[in-house]
Amino acid sequence: MEERVRRTVMKHHMLEHNDHVAVAVSGGKDSLTLLSLLVKLEERFPKSKITAVSVDEGIEGYRDEALELARKACNDLGVEQLVVSYQDLFGITTDEIAQKHLGQTPCAYCGVFRRKAINKAAMMVGATKIATAHNLDDEVQTVLLNMLHGDPLRIVRSGPVLRDPRGRFLPRIKPLCDVSEKEIVLYAYLTGLDFQGATCPHGSEALRNDIRSFLNQMDQKHPGTKFTLQRTAERLRELLFDAAPVSELNECEKCGDPTPHRLCEACLMLEAIAA
Ligand code: SF4
Ligand code: ZN
Repeated sequence: MEERVRRTVMKHHMLEHNDHVAVAVSGGKDSLTLLSLLVKLEERFPKSKITAVSVDEGIEGYRDEALELARKACNDLGVEQLVVSYQDLFGITTDEIAQKHLGQTPCAYCGVFRRKAINKAAMMVGATKIATAHNLDDEVQTVLLNMLHGDPLRIVRSGPVLRDPRGRFLPRIKPLCDVSEKEIVLYAYLTGLDFQGATCPHGSEALRNDIRSFLNQMDQKHPGTKFTLQRTAERLRELLFDAAPVSELNECEKCGDPTPHRLCEACLMLEAIAA
């Protein structure tokens, strides 16, 4: 698996020799596997640096345990870690959002806030890139989700490497995008990684769960389905790259972050929560 991840990194030109990579580490199997593999890979690039960035969403009895495991892994691997919290950044926790019974699921808010929190943490440590632990299963589920949401251009704008042509957002890389969830579980057990097994009490992405079951069934009956879908998405990105317009960016009126609108998505959500 190490060799496959190395090949993925090379194929998509994910890393420069002097990159400072902020690795998003939650304490789950995927992110701890990513961190341990990138630490090994980094040994070949003496001028590069890795810092773990972790987000405390404020989910009692769940995230506390994961953050402790992430802290321990960083200690063992000799990696510096920065933890940022929703409470400090946004003044609200995911538990509090869940209690409000807003129109959307807690995940809808939590996902947007996490993206922003990781960005902020990466900027705070002076990173040049962000690495996230999305695996093959996550990637192909998202491709199908975007199709079912009628948003093909979102498929074009996503992928193993996200580079902002305007240079306003840090590049994001997904070195595990060719590795299946099953392989990661196996790797984590075989290498003795101490990861969090519990699932989030607010997890409620019903459509993604249905897609996960469907893809697992298909892949069992027709081995290679997930890889084929991944390759199809890659091909679509090549063919439709010029069809995905790049919008102009303003500064969010509240937080100053780049956004195509008056307010960034997170500030818009915070306004809706406060209303
Ligand atoms: Fe946040 Fe939803 Fe993930 Fe829980 S499952 S951490 S609420 S995005
Ligand atoms: Zn904002």
